[in-house]
Amino acid sequence: MKAEDLQKLKIAIIGGGYAGATAALALHQIGANVTVYEQARQIHEVGAGIGLRPAVIKLFRKLGVYEDIAAVTTASPSHDIFDAQGNLIHSEEWPHLNDDGEDNSTRFIHRGDFIDVLTGLLPEGMLKLNHKAERIEDHGDSATVAFTNGSQVTADLVIGADGIKSKVRTLFSDHQPVFARCHAYRIVIDAKDAEGLMTDDAFRMYIDKETNGMIYFLPLRHRNQVSFDITVPSEDSSWNPQVTREEVLHSIRNFDDRLKRIVEKLDMDQLNARSAHDLDPVDVWNSRSVALIGDAAHAMLHHQGQGANSAVLDGGILADQLVASATVAEALDAYTAERKEPTQALQKISRASWDPNAITTAFPEKEAIDY
Ligand SMILES: Cc1cc2nc3c(=O)[nH]c(=O)nc-3n(C[C@H](O)[C@H](O)[C@H](O)COP(=O)(O)OP(=O)(O)OC[C@H]3O[C@@H](n4cnc5c(N)ncnc54)[C@H](O)[C@@H]3O)c2cc1C
Repeated sequence: MKAEDLQKLKIAIIGGGYAGATAALALHQIGANVTVYEQARQIHEVGAGIGLRPAVIKLFRKLGVYEDIAAVTTASPSHDIFDAQGNLIHSEEWPHLNDDGEDNSTRFIHRGDFIDVLTGLLPEGMLKLNHKAERIEDHGDSATVAFTNGSQVTADLVIGADGIKSKVRTLFSDHQPVFARCHAYRIVIDAKDAEGLMTDDAFRMYIDKETNGMIYFLPLRHRNQVSFDITVPSEDSSWNPQVTREEVLHSIRNFDDRLKRIVEKLDMDQLNARSAHDLDPVDVWNSRSVALIGDAAHAMLHHQGQGANSAVLDGGILADQLVASATVAEALDAYTAERKEPTQALQKISRASWDPNAITTAFPEKEAIDY
């Protein structure tokens, strides 16, 4: 689209998570008139870390915000996989470390810092809190969103970045989250409480052959902390399950004593417990004036650490397609065509999880996506 047409474009983004915030940044940079509507009264993320992969690092360079992100991250050399007792099974360098002569290391970030940096980069007034989308009406070349606070907005493009339980998605499908019969328990601890296990910046995954339980150990050296995530089988599908320390300890009974001692010392009030859910592949992602991005389009399980990464990439690609296409409708079709296949491949690979008896690579997704 021509620059003057992009400047006239009114875009409403529903949801101010990683997908919505990055899309806002990218779409603002191409000149569009963007507003983000977020249901929460304040922006908040759980205490946990994630790894920003090379494709995301490259996108942030392109958007000119790499330095802001890098300042609150730790670069990681490798992904190391151990058995429950801490014996190394496999170690692999992160892919694409030095493409184009640049440092594209995977970088570890605290989720709270990540959303703070992204939303902090948005121009004043672009993010409107306390706006929960309740109804959406697609008029063809525009769409109207009504919020529970009584306000409404009509825009040339409405972007559903409203997560796995997306309201915007109800325009296209009746998909509901699918329970993966496991729980994720997440917390950030100080390095001094990590039982001497934070020796370098490698990502460590411990996996138990008997239960298929996993512990992810993700160093956040810039904060002198570690993100400590436990994933264990469970039949309890409640969204935020209540668990006791004893239950957590029982679920990791086969693990190295040092890992169990970390749990013995945890501040249980800080532990975030979630039952894991994803989506079956969603067929329709867009109309002429509405599109889904992030978890709203392709929520996946966390086993490959690719959900937030994919959500961030969506926004950048949507902006690129608006620049490259003649109309919004064409851009949305091109965006869906570009993003559906790789993200649905990731949904499938993440659902397959890990087989502790057959680990040959730390990156089973490498063949399916342009990392
Ligand atoms: C246990 C666990 C571990 C994970 N680990 C990783 C990892 O290591 N790496 C990785 O890349 N990904 C990881 N993920 C996945 C990642 O968290 C998600 O993919 C990512 O948060 C999706 O971002 P999003 O912006 O699309 O959705 P969300 O983060 O869900 O954000 C959606 C936003 O929309 C708002 N919203 C919802 N409904 C409405 C409404 N009706 N109106 C207005 N606003 C609304 C919400 O309040 C929220 O702010 C993990 C997920 C889990 C559960």
